[in-house]
Amino acid sequence: MSDRIIRATAAGAMIRAFVCDTRELVQTAYEHHDTYPVVTAALGRSLTAAAMMGVMQKNEDEKLTLKIDGNGPIGNIVVTANSQAIVKGYASNPHVDIPLKPSGKLDVSAAVGKGSITVIKDLGLKEPYVGTTDIISGEIAEDITYYFSVSEQVPSSVGLGVLVDKDLSVKRAGGFILQLMPSATDEVIDKLESNISKVTSVTALFEEEGNLEAILGKLLEGFDVEITDEIVPKFECGCSKEKVRDALSLIKKEEIRSMIDDGQPVEVHCDFCNTYYKFEIDELKAILEK
Ligand SMILES: [Zn+2]
Repeated sequence: MSDRIIRATAAGAMIRAFVCDTRELVQTAYEHHDTYPVVTAALGRSLTAAAMMGVMQKNEDEKLTLKIDGNGPIGNIVVTANSQAIVKGYASNPHVDIPLKPSGKLDVSAAVGKGSITVIKDLGLKEPYVGTTDIISGEIAEDITYYFSVSEQVPSSVGLGVLVDKDLSVKRAGGFILQLMPSATDEVIDKLESNISKVTSVTALFEEEGNLEAILGKLLEGFDVEITDEIVPKFECGCSKEKVRDALSLIKKEEIRSMIDDGQPVEVHCDFCNTYYKFEIDELKAILEK
């Protein structure tokens, strides 16, 4: 399976649904950041959710940021997504090594801790929309479910899963978001809840069903389902030395001068993709002259 998001509606548009395979993009995040398994899972779940939330946005230019500010050893997780499901993100501490849960699973909630999640939707025009809710479990899917119901008043079910292989690469990653539209009848709500209650883990669901269409069919069993479109999500940062140079040219001249006086090349770090851009003294002088 290669990465894709399927968008669908069901029960005559009373339900909207997203299912996605994000193994490749979570693998890319792991390669950029050298994340340890519990961080691969936490960041991967966040990127997977953001990819689907990005696609949900009505406006093409809208940018979504999901921030998970917990007090656990991971620190903060920051991910962004656009409406084409291009995502990027990082965790402030990629090298968290904590014991597994008694069940043998990665302890994402202990790594994330307690705190808040914030969703920022930026249209680039007016004030951005900002919604903040508490972290209720730290497993991320439950926290985003809670965010949708409290901050956006959309009853939702979010499932996210990342399975890390023995060699620390990403074996499986994906998820789903199911949302009830205001028109949903009690009958539809009950049926959907019953379907969701049968899902024990997202990674097991992927293993059992094999492809996204089958997963969608399982989640929406008993409903008429209409697939509306497919999107290919990607981890892509978009930073470049040119963009960093442009940013440097905006800082105060005295600061550039003091960097030159220090006599050392300057390194600028992109948090999102963990890339360093080095500027030699001559390059700094060129920026100053501009
Ligand atoms: Zn970057």
